[in-house]
Amino acid sequence: MDMQETAEDRAFRAEVAGFIADKLPADIRTRVRDGYDAGRDDTRRWHEILAARGWLVPSWPAEWGGAGWNVMQRHIFEEECALGYCPPVHGITIGMLGPVLIRYGTEAQKQRYLPAILNVREWWCQGYSEPGAGSDLASLKTEARRDGDAYIVNGSKIWTSTGEWATHMFCLVRTDKSAKPQEGISFLLIDMKTAGISIRPIHAINGHRLFNQVFLDNVVVPVENLVHKENDGWSVAKSLLEHERLNLSRVGESKKRLHRLKEIARVEREGGRTLIEQDWFRRKLAALETRLRALDATVLRFIARTQSGAALDPSVSMLKLRGSQLVQDILQATVDALGYYGLPFDLSTALSDSDPLGGLADDDLDVLPDYAAGASVSRFRSRAFTIAGGSSEVQRNVMAKQVLKL
Ligand SMILES: Cc1cc2nc3c(=O)[nH]c(=O)nc-3n(C[C@H](O)[C@H](O)[C@H](O)COP(=O)(O)OP(=O)(O)OC[C@H]3O[C@@H](n4cnc5c(N)ncnc54)[C@H](O)[C@@H]3O)c2cc1C
Repeated sequence: MDMQETAEDRAFRAEVAGFIADKLPADIRTRVRDGYDAGRDDTRRWHEILAARGWLVPSWPAEWGGAGWNVMQRHIFEEECALGYCPPVHGITIGMLGPVLIRYGTEAQKQRYLPAILNVREWWCQGYSEPGAGSDLASLKTEARRDGDAYIVNGSKIWTSTGEWATHMFCLVRTDKSAKPQEGISFLLIDMKTAGISIRPIHAINGHRLFNQVFLDNVVVPVENLVHKENDGWSVAKSLLEHERLNLSRVGESKKRLHRLKEIARVEREGGRTLIEQDWFRRKLAALETRLRALDATVLRFIARTQSGAALDPSVSMLKLRGSQLVQDILQATVDALGYYGLPFDLSTALSDSDPLGGLADDDLDVLPDYAAGASVSRFRSRAFTIAGGSSEVQRNVMAKQVLKL
C-alpha cells in the first residue's frame, strides 16, 4: 500500500478490491493469472462488467463517460486491477482512439463513435504500419483519392493487432503525393465491413494470432470520416502515438507479473529452500521492484500533468522504453525461476485450429504446475514489446532529437 494514501484513498482501494473480488469471473482471473493474453471474449465480458459500474473509461472527460477520478484514484484502480488479475482493457480502443477523437473529432464523430465504445459494441484497430513503412512511418503509401463525397482507399496495412475482432480501423492514408511526406497524410475512420477490405492472419513466435495484414482494395470511405484536416493527419497520428506510449509503459502489467513472480518464488525451491528465502533471488526481485517503483512514480507525474490540462509530449517515449524492457526482464526472471518447467508452453491455448507446430498434448501439461504453463507464452510474447508502438531505437531517437535537442 502507498504510504501517502489518505483514509479516503484507502476506502476507495477497498471499494475497488471488493468490486473485483465480487465481479471478475473466476475463469478469466485464472487465465490472466497464469499468463495468457485475454482474447476477445474475456475482454468483452470484462468491458461489460466495467461499463455497468461506470468504470470502463475512467480517464475520459466526465461528459463522455469518465469517472472524474483524481490521479491517486486512477493509480489505485489500475494497481488493484493488476494485482487482482483483471484483463487489461482494450488499449487501442479506449486508450488511443478515444482520447484522440475527444481532442480532434467533430461533435458528430464523438456522438457517433464514443457511446458505441462505452456500450461495448465497437472495437478499433490501428492501421498505421505498412509492409514498407514501420519506423519510418511517414513513408506510408496507402492512398486515399478524393471522389465527390468519398475517399477511395487502396493499399495495405500490416501488424494490425486485434484486426480480426475490430469493427473499425483508424487509418493513416496518403492524400497528397506531391507534398513532403509528413504533410500529405490524413487520418480516416474506416468501417471494417466496407467492401474491398480483406484480412490475412499473422501468427507470432508464441503461436498466437497476434496480428494481421489488412488489404484495402478500392474501399469507399465517406468524407465525414476524416478526422481533423485533410493532409494534417500527422498531428493526429503523433498525438495518438503519445497516448499509445503512455499506455505502453505497461506499469499495470509489470505489477501483475512481479506479484506473480513473488508468488512463484514462495513455492519453487532450489537446494532445499524456496527461492524467496535466497539472497541472490531476493536481490533480483529488489532490482526489478526498484525499477518498477521509479517507473510508476514517473508515469504518475505524466498523468498528473495531463489532468492539469497539459498535452502529452515526446518525453513520454522514455516511459515506453523503460516499461517495455522492464516487463521483458520480469518475464525472463519468471522463466528462470521455473527452471525446466519454464520451457514447455501451452500450444492448446495458442492454436485453436490445426496444430502445425506439433505441440504438447494436454496430458503433457499436467506435469507442470499451473503457474508454469503460460510462462514461455508470455516471455516470447514480450519480445514484441520493444518493437510495437515504435522500437527502442526509435524511442531513443525521439528523445535525443525532440527532448534533448541533440
Ligand atoms: C506485437 C506488435 C503489435 C503491433 N501492432 C500494430 C498495430 O496494431 N498497428 C500498426 O500500425 N502497427 C503495429 N505494429 C507495428 C510496429 O509499429 C512496427 O513493427 C514498428 O514501428 C517497427 O517497424 P518495422 O517492423 O517496419 O521495423 P523497421 O522500421 O524495419 O525497423 C527494423 C529495425 O531497424 C531499427 N531502426 C529503424 N529505423 C531506425 C533509425 N532511424 N535509427 C535506429 N534504428 C532504426 C529498428 O529499431 C528495428 O530494430 C505492431 C508491432 C508489434 C511487434
